[in-house]
Amino acid sequence: MHSNYHTHSTYCDGKASPRQMVDFALAHSFTHLGFSGHSPLPYRNTFSIHEDRYLEYCDTVRALAQEFADRIDIRLGLEIDYVPGLCEDFTPLVEQGGLQYTIGSIHLIPPPDHVEYLRDHPSEAAEHLWMIDGPHYQIYDEGLQRLFGGDIRRAVRCFFDQNNRMIESQRPTIVGHFDKIVMHNRDRYFHYDEPWFRDLVYETVQLIHETGCICEVNTRGIYKGRHNDYYPARDTLRHMNTLGIPVIVSTDAHAPEDLVRTEGAEEFLATIHYRNIVTTLP
Ligand SMILES: [Zn+2]
Ligand SMILES: [Zn+2]
Repeated sequence: MHSNYHTHSTYCDGKASPRQMVDFALAHSFTHLGFSGHSPLPYRNTFSIHEDRYLEYCDTVRALAQEFADRIDIRLGLEIDYVPGLCEDFTPLVEQGGLQYTIGSIHLIPPPDHVEYLRDHPSEAAEHLWMIDGPHYQIYDEGLQRLFGGDIRRAVRCFFDQNNRMIESQRPTIVGHFDKIVMHNRDRYFHYDEPWFRDLVYETVQLIHETGCICEVNTRGIYKGRHNDYYPARDTLRHMNTLGIPVIVSTDAHAPEDLVRTEGAEEFLATIHYRNIVTTLP
């Protein structure tokens, strides 16, 4: 069974059309493919689906699902950015689009004292958000200095607080890369095994456990050469296994060839006898 539920396309920052992603999946014997474009945001940016094209994205995926129904199970989802002051309620997107599942992810972090301003001035959001993803660590460094005065612990705590609030209030189908804050850290400001950091990770893990969300095992950092571990990290997955948290492997594909870049995740989960592996959504 070949499946992937974390898939981008040219509707957001992906490199191929939804149809091209489907063609590749079919050529590689996938049985299930879920699309999860970056959710629209109310300010100019280069990565999310434009508000005006959101319904077109949904219709396009639905049409492909129908066209290929006898060959592959295609699902309509969205990777929704939970951003205090900008996007705190997934319901309108779910209802307007008729989404079948959601991935809840944090890429953008406002300092708490900027949230009210952000709420009233969404078009200026770019200046008030710490961007922790993307190809360039310099943007991470710049935001950390400018928005958090270089206080890495405070900034990281905001990242996890934001994850926790999203998990508790929105209950996404799948929790996306909840420790990705380590990627651009590149072992410079802190190490994963420092107690304060590990505590924040475990607190979020506990919340995922209590809410019953599925957690993804995201392989993108490895095949992009930006990180040497999955999101969440191998050690965190070992801990999650003791709690029986369901996990699903996802490649976070932005191009067709990314779809098969599972980077040994299934084999690793087998090695640690991971008990609760989800391969397809109901
Ligand atoms: Zn993401
Ligand atoms: Zn993604």
